[in-house]
Amino acid sequence: MTDLAEFAREKGVKYFMVSYTDLVGAQRAKLVPTYMINNVVSGGAGFAGFAGGFVLTPAHPDMLGMPDADTVIQLPWKPEVAWVAANPAMYDSPLPQAPRNVLRNVIAEMEKEGLRIKTGVEPEFFFLTPEGDRIADTRDTAAKPCYDQQAIMRRYDVISEVSDYMIELGWEPYQSDHEDANGQFEMNWKYDDSLATADKLAFFKFMMKSVAEKHGLRVTFMPKPFLELTGSGMHAHISGWSLDGKTNAFYDGNDELGLSEVGHHFLGGIMKHASALAAITNPTINSYKRINAPRSSSGATWAPNSVTWSGDNRTHLVRVPGKGRIELRLPDGASNPYLLHAVIMAAGLDGIRHKCDPGKRLDIDMYADGHMVKDAPKLPLNLLDAIRAFDQNTELKAALGEEFSASFIEMKMKEWNAYASHLTQWERDHTLDI
Ligand code: ADP
Ligand code: MG
Ligand code: MG
Ligand code: MG
Ligand code: MG
Repeated sequence: MTDLAEFAREKGVKYFMVSYTDLVGAQRAKLVPTYMINNVVSGGAGFAGFAGGFVLTPAHPDMLGMPDADTVIQLPWKPEVAWVAANPAMYDSPLPQAPRNVLRNVIAEMEKEGLRIKTGVEPEFFFLTPEGDRIADTRDTAAKPCYDQQAIMRRYDVISEVSDYMIELGWEPYQSDHEDANGQFEMNWKYDDSLATADKLAFFKFMMKSVAEKHGLRVTFMPKPFLELTGSGMHAHISGWSLDGKTNAFYDGNDELGLSEVGHHFLGGIMKHASALAAITNPTINSYKRINAPRSSSGATWAPNSVTWSGDNRTHLVRVPGKGRIELRLPDGASNPYLLHAVIMAAGLDGIRHKCDPGKRLDIDMYADGHMVKDAPKLPLNLLDAIRAFDQNTELKAALGEEFSASFIEMKMKEWNAYASHLTQWERDHTLDI
């Protein structure tokens, strides 16, 4: 276990940012001066949980952020500060609705099956002006901008800075590119244990936003910030390993796609629970403008709209891109790094325990020929559908914890109701003269 006080002395850290991720995926933190860090390590940093993104009331006691010292990262762009992920606690136990605790519980269940899940995520994001209303690069207007060489070089300063930081941190970044929408980019680094990847993703979002701000830009991971442009996904690649991390149990060289029986069962769980898990992988009103979307101006549609799987074919919900792993293409940029992992693993675990059959693999182009597939379930059309599907899914709710699930549903229903109470221009345009 890393000794944070020692870490601070060695590295010249003046403040610790004791950080947690709330129910909707926002990161919240307290800055703790180094000379007080031992108190926080033993007693936690105090937060008013009801104000800090949880379903709690002012009558609840302090929620304590207990630092997980091994996650500490000295901010590469502000070395006198170090970020550390905290596990929220209350009444001397982990707070059941806190996303990092939910994920830790699912990991413990997965370990009972002898599996250690490793994941890699693909964050897509836009660089905007500081006001956030348009993309920052006014020259980034190509009709088909994917991999645009000129446009990525106009963002070289910020992208290379973040990439250099990832190299320093040992994340093994391996590529960055301009994605399919004007102003949209993606950065990739090597897969790791699910909790480590969730922590890295939380930190990546913080780092990307912070470094962009330094360069006078604003970054958004919003799923569909511009209706006519391709939205931002957060594809997740998943493999399941022996507990020592040495053998990929999802790999089977004799299978046509290189996916083992246990890998197929995990996939079966994803297929079974896809419509319900969308509430977590696609957790905002805006998320449903990315999935179910018409073709974007580039002519491409990258997001799935029904529950099907395939080999190396990007038109399905799940792709098997290489031997021994699957790619879930459903999640978007608004998904909570911890809950994203927790719900994928909860679905996969159910699939493993019940030996779920993922059904027939489809090798068609779903966007061109999807109408020929009559029996594939459709994904939820909006957040309300998704919340209801999740609420009806007793298995997923139990796997993620009843208290978490109730809190999540309550918070998301509030969000839906707040949205539904808006009077929009569309309604006036279509109803005023009826
Ligand atoms: P795509 O072809 O979908 O755009 P990317 O290269 O952008 O793929 O991202 C692939 C992600 O999958 C990376 O994070 C990579 O480390 C991860 N990955 C590769 N192999 C595995 C594996 N066996 N298990 C989990 N993740 C993996
Ligand atoms: Mg106070
Ligand atoms: Mg990618
Ligand atoms: Mg991409
Ligand atoms: Mg992908």
